[in-house]
Amino acid sequence: MKFIFLLTAILLIWWILKTLNRSRLADRKPRIRNMLPCAHCGLHIPEDEAIMRHGKSYCCRKHAEKDNP
Ligand SMILES: [Zn+2]
Repeated sequence: MKFIFLLTAILLIWWILKTLNRSRLADRKPRIRNMLPCAHCGLHIPEDEAIMRHGKSYCCRKHAEKDNP
């Protein structure tokens, strides 16, 4: 009987930790990311994913190289 109680307690703690982690991740998601247009094709990409070349932003390395040979 003790074993079942212990197992339930462990599962409950595990579930609480999982829920807390999930809500912490959910809090991070709605952060608005600054979008930058690609100077070659005009596609908008998040600032942290954009490739910067000569003060211009590009969606991929291919487009950055096409504009700056
Ligand atoms: Zn592009």
